[in-house]
Amino acid sequence: MIERTFVMIKPDGVKRALIGEVIRRFENSGLKLIGMKMLHVDKDFAKKHYTEDITVRRGEAVRNMLLDYVVEGPVVAMVWEGVVAIEVVRKIVGGTEPRTAVPGTIRGDYTHVSYAYADAKKLPVKNIIHASGDAKDAAHEVALWFSAKELFSYTNVHDVHLY
Ligand code: GDP
Ligand code: MG
Repeated sequence: MIERTFVMIKPDGVKRALIGEVIRRFENSGLKLIGMKMLHVDKDFAKKHYTEDITVRRGEAVRNMLLDYVVEGPVVAMVWEGVVAIEVVRKIVGGTEPRTAVPGTIRGDYTHVSYAYADAKKLPVKNIIHASGDAKDAAHEVALWFSAKELFSYTNVHDVHLY
C-alpha cells in the first residue's frame, strides 16, 4: 500500500512563487518527499511525459498546448511516498478545471479559469501542478524524471505512526 507518485510544479506555479506553498501542503499531510529537483525540460522530454495518452483523452490540440506550456520555464519535479500516495496527492491537488476545483485543494485555492476560457484563448489550463493520475502513470513518470540514485530512503517524524 506504500506508493510513490510523481508531482511537478508547472512553470506557472514556479513563476507565481508557489513552490513552498505546494510543498508545505504535501509535507503537512504526512507524505514523505523522497526526491526533488528544479529543471527546464525540452520538447523531446516533454513528449515522453505528455504521451499519446493525452491525445487520446484530451485531443491533439490540448497535448500541443501542454508541450509548449511545460517547456516555457523551469519546473520543480518531486516524488512523494506514502500510503495510497497516488490518490492522496490527487486529492490535495484538486480537480483539473480550476473553475470547479474545490477550495482547500491547491488548484481550488490558487487558480480560477475555465476550460472554455482557456480553449478560446488557445491556452492550456494553467493549474500550477501536475500529479500522476494512476499507478501506471506514476511508475512511468517516476522512472522518466528520476534515476534510482536521485531517490532517497530515510526515516522521518511520520514513520513512527506508520510502522
Ligand atoms: P490532470 O491529470 O488533472 O492534470 O489532467 P489531464 O491529465 O486530463 O490533463 C493534463 C493537463 O492538460 C491539465 O492539467 C491541464 O493543464 C490541461 N488540460 C486538460 N484538459 C484541458 C482542456 O479541455 N482545455 C485546455 N485548454 N487545457 C486542458
Ligand atoms: Mg493527468
